[in-house]
Amino acid sequence: MIRFLQVSKAYRGGRPALQSINFHLAQGDIAFLTGHSGAGKSTLLKLICGIERPSAGNVFFDGVDISRLPSSEIPFLRRQIGMIFQNHQLLMDKTVFDNVALPLIIAGVNESDIKKRVNAALDKVGLYDKGKYYPLALSGGEQQRVGIARAVVHKPKVLLADEPTGNLDDETAKKVMEVFETFNHVGVTVLIVTHNHQLISKPHHKSFRIESGRLVK
Ligand code: ADP
Ligand code: ADP
Repeated sequence: MIRFLQVSKAYRGGRPALQSINFHLAQGDIAFLTGHSGAGKSTLLKLICGIERPSAGNVFFDGVDISRLPSSEIPFLRRQIGMIFQNHQLLMDKTVFDNVALPLIIAGVNESDIKKRVNAALDKVGLYDKGKYYPLALSGGEQQRVGIARAVVHKPKVLLADEPTGNLDDETAKKVMEVFETFNHVGVTVLIVTHNHQLISKPHHKSFRIESGRLVK
């Protein structure tokens, strides 16, 4: 599903953020990426969803080399990926339902399908009854699960999460991690940048570590 071949990334004027990265994730893998601040974790995620391009090497997504994908093709790539951020980036003046519906509205999905898909997504993260609430009425863990619902509402093949439990206590973090497991069980490839892997570490989890731009496994 995702393959990095000798991928390096240097930002303009900076030292290399990633150097000769090789790894792959098969469909249905769940993997965790750890490393110190500044190690290159976010850069790696950005290369997968086309926010940044590699300076050298190739990034393959579902068999397609996306390293030199024309900008016009990037939206097609993004539609196959669900992104989750630490500070969930919900719109506070919109209801939970409307937040989750946003990607579908942008994609021009019709109203009855939106209703069905949003309710299904909220159901899967355990928030079926919270659609009418505003994010501020929810706990931190619930807000993060709204972020996950929004990321999965268009049924992406891949979920990328950048420190999704960074602001949460251990018990809440565990619940959020379990939501990722649920989606992984139905075949979604999941890659999570986290310091909390020990919370749910299981034998089938892949785990990678980046140190100063190099993958040390
Ligand atoms: P992490 O997510 O592990 O904290 P990043 O991928 O954000 O690491 O950063 C890796 C390196 O690249 C750091 O040295 C950081 O300062 C640098 N960097 C990240 N984004 C940019 C940017 N847009 N421009 C220049 N340098 C950047
Ligand atoms: P429908 O396709 O009728 O809208 P659902 O939305 O409930 O029904 O999804 C059908 C199946 O697809 C469920 O078993 C669900 O778990 C699974 N599924 C596969 N990939 C995803 C994904 N990325 N997000 C949400 N559900 C998914």
